[in-house]
Amino acid sequence: MTPKLLIPLYLAVLLAPLALAALGGRPPRSVWDELASGAGMLAFTILLVEFVLSGRFRTVSARIGMDVTMRFHQVIARTALALVLLHPILYAAPFAAPYPWDTTRELTLYSGSRGLATGVLAWVLLIALVVFGIGRRQLALRYESWRLTHGLGALAVAGLALDHTLIAGRYSQDAALVALWSGLTAAAAFSLAWVYAIKPFLQTRRPWRVAGVRRLAERAWELAIEPEGHDGLRFEAGQFVWLNVGRSPYSLSENPFSISSAPAEGPGLRFVIKELGDFTRTVGAIAPGTRAHLDGPFGSLVVAGRKEPGVALIAGGVGVAPALSILRQLRAEGDPRPIHLVYGNRTEAQIVYRAELDAMAAEAQSVQVTHVLAEPPAGWSGRTGVVDAALIRALFDDPAHTDWLYIICGPPAMIEGAEQALIDLGVPSRQILSERFQYD
Ligand SMILES: Cc1cc2nc3c(=O)[nH]c(=O)nc-3n(C[C@H](O)[C@H](O)[C@H](O)COP(=O)(O)OP(=O)(O)OC[C@H]3O[C@@H](n4cnc5c(N)ncnc54)[C@H](O)[C@@H]3O)c2cc1C
Repeated sequence: MTPKLLIPLYLAVLLAPLALAALGGRPPRSVWDELASGAGMLAFTILLVEFVLSGRFRTVSARIGMDVTMRFHQVIARTALALVLLHPILYAAPFAAPYPWDTTRELTLYSGSRGLATGVLAWVLLIALVVFGIGRRQLALRYESWRLTHGLGALAVAGLALDHTLIAGRYSQDAALVALWSGLTAAAAFSLAWVYAIKPFLQTRRPWRVAGVRRLAERAWELAIEPEGHDGLRFEAGQFVWLNVGRSPYSLSENPFSISSAPAEGPGLRFVIKELGDFTRTVGAIAPGTRAHLDGPFGSLVVAGRKEPGVALIAGGVGVAPALSILRQLRAEGDPRPIHLVYGNRTEAQIVYRAELDAMAAEAQSVQVTHVLAEPPAGWSGRTGVVDAALIRALFDDPAHTDWLYIICGPPAMIEGAEQALIDLGVPSRQILSERFQYD
């Protein structure tokens, strides 16, 4: 679905409970009471839709990118937190037992001890959830443990908030709102089941096995996998998958990696994996034949179907993986357009597939490879420094380059610098595709 459709759909879902409450025909209360209820309802809706946003639905992330979807998930979670903090504070009506004549609950706030308890618990837990989400890197937790606690915490907040809303919510006494909350909660529950039960089950029917592992460069490995008893994965060059090697597909041990081979190469897939943490440091020791599972493809770094007259691939470090897939695919298709790969590394020893890249540039006039090294060895003839705005401006300042397609993948600072330089050069943003290798 395109962002033009997704944004209005998202807003419509967010505002639906408020609209139903307004149309419910209850007598209005003070502005503060209405704001307090509205803040609570909006925060609860945001929370339920968060499950769908992080549910790896291709319909949601395909056109906007998984990193943008996840960034939105984080920003909107902070908005929900602000609304939740305000929710109890804004009420002007007193907490008191209901008056018998106040049948529309205008005059007091009363939810009984259970409604109050679940509300307070959800309030405290949501604050903890968002704060721990923001400070995840400071926690001495494995990524998988953090992911589990984050998911279970969100589930607990949703359950408690639902109980609180249905018991204490003045407007949630209306059948239409109860039906809406139930529908949204069912969508949230389905999103969880989709990622943690249905998709893993589907993966068990399409297993893969490791065909080989080889060292490519300093702390960088090539991992090759082959489909076992099926025809493989349909993907576009530049996309990525969540890969699980040697574990049950129901375990949380999976990591996102870009496919570095081209679809034209056949059903096997190759990845370039850089040592970073607990899984990636073990890649070199993975035995051929090990069972693997994957979830995908995802990602929007897709050149297929694009008609721009040239393609620039701007990569930093292991961000070269999707660029390799695109370059290999364009070469396999005999695409006549000019392709310019700008590939930055710190040292020469970190460059992967150097011989293949240089051979492509030597063979095809349309292919240009610019190596950039921050710490060049003596006698280095390529560019030096980092891939930054100044370098991108220098390489692509010809007016003809404003019509090109730009694919950027690498460290966040590199992506931001390159994007800004291209915008300054007059490249329309629809011709700039980028992907971050980190969601925080
Ligand atoms: C879209 C995308 C494509 C990527 N492509 C490549 C690639 O081609 N080659 C490559 O070497 N690296 C790639 N990465 C980065 C790679 O996923 C991490 O380096 C790897 O997951 C680290 O795992 P670890 O267990 O070794 O380290 P950990 O210490 O467990 O994780 C280090 C960091 O990696 C991220 N991470 C770990 N597990 C997950 C997960 N399940 N979901 C999301 N993020 C996670 C988190 O930010 C975490 O803090 C990509 C990342 C993304 C998001």
